[in-house]
Amino acid sequence: MHATWNNTYTRLPEHMFARQQPVPVAAPSGLVLNTALADELGIFFGEDWPEFIAGNQVPMGADPIAQAYAGHQFGHWNPQLGDGRAVLLGELTGAFGHVDVQLKGAGRTPWSRGGDGRAWYGPVLREYLISESMHALGIPTTRALAAAATGESILREPGPLPGAVICRTASSHIRVGTFQYFASREDIPALEALLDHAIARHYPQAQNADGFLGQAVAAQARLIAQWMGVGFIHGVMNTDNSHVGGLTIDYGPCAFMDDFVPTKVFSSIDRQGRYGYSNQPNLAAWNMAQLATALLPLAENTEATIARYTEIVKGFGDIFEAEYAKVFAAKLGLSTSSQSSALIQQFLKMMGQTGADFTQSFRALGSDEVARHIGEHPEFVSWHEKWLVSADLTRLKQINPALIPRNHLVEAMIDQSVAGNMQMFHVLHAALQTPFITPPNPEFMEPPKAHEVVQATFCGT
Ligand code: AMP
Ligand code: MG
Repeated sequence: MHATWNNTYTRLPEHMFARQQPVPVAAPSGLVLNTALADELGIFFGEDWPEFIAGNQVPMGADPIAQAYAGHQFGHWNPQLGDGRAVLLGELTGAFGHVDVQLKGAGRTPWSRGGDGRAWYGPVLREYLISESMHALGIPTTRALAAAATGESILREPGPLPGAVICRTASSHIRVGTFQYFASREDIPALEALLDHAIARHYPQAQNADGFLGQAVAAQARLIAQWMGVGFIHGVMNTDNSHVGGLTIDYGPCAFMDDFVPTKVFSSIDRQGRYGYSNQPNLAAWNMAQLATALLPLAENTEATIARYTEIVKGFGDIFEAEYAKVFAAKLGLSTSSQSSALIQQFLKMMGQTGADFTQSFRALGSDEVARHIGEHPEFVSWHEKWLVSADLTRLKQINPALIPRNHLVEAMIDQSVAGNMQMFHVLHAALQTPFITPPNPEFMEPPKAHEVVQATFCGT
């Protein structure tokens, strides 16, 4: 594995991370390699690429570390999380900018606590498939570069499962929880270094902490509006899974909605419905308030700074509303106006009341098909007449995807992969690369049949 490495995080104060080599595994073998992304990043992989993804070899120029971070998990403060099963191999530079390369499932680190530092096929292939699908949908996300099997079994609740490692790339792995870690320790030098680093990486135009916070809030608001537009539920929006650069990160028990239920929750660990679909904007704003709090120790005048940060974080609501209106107006082929907002609300209401499929209902707009989904709603005909007057039907199919990674397909893919058959993974993954065209396998577009519905998704750690 050859690439142009330029590791900047390891030049930060030494206590912000731990040097950590990936722990070698018994028998690496390749599961999937994203050659297009490798080419884009100027990475040359030889035939022995699984050795590097599984962590048995470390590329020349890499400088592997585990990063420290803390976080609020389901609202509860945890002062010490950190990379417990991931290592940041290093960072690449090139025409594409600056990109982290991380292995997840690479063995124990100083932050593993009771965990084994490993992952199995389920979460690895799930993250690979869903993150690449998000990218194809045009939503900011970490990317999947490769996955390798370890040849080892790991023990999870259902029993032994085949181990795997995912290699992902991202513009950084800096989380709200990374700032919280140093803020809670009143470690001002580290906090300053982290802020400078995050500004340089994500918002070079930001002059100071205020500018950084404003940009992070805006990026987060745009991200959540985009999630909402495809019916995505992250499932674990803890501050350690909230990226300061506005990327989708840490695909745990995430899921896309089939039938539209605004309060929908999938995650088996989210018993109170904290991270349900329609709560996501509130939770993201709460996470941004935690970021603001974590920046406070850097302020000279705390009281004045609290007042400014309060305004910046409050701004989340307005930015989100505007972005949401833009995303959904575009989905209906409308320009944003008070009239488009009303049409959006009515469309969502009809979908919710008829139990219509979110993706298919939007995709059907502009043809008679739409009546098949929500036509039985008593207000449909009058809504449709009103909508047609102002809608531009030409771009609907470029904005409303035909394909999302539906839960029942993802679960079936995982079952088959664990049984040794990667075919469904490859076919589904190929189809998800072009989500705006009708796939060669039209059954991938269909919502689950009653017996296929997935009720809960698991963290699968
Ligand atoms: P996550 O649920 O992936 O956001 O992880 C939350 C925290 O638990 C992070 O600090 C992870 O590194 C840690 N963690 C999750 N799974 C494992 C594991 N199998 N071994 C060690 N640490 C883990
Ligand atoms: Mg996480």
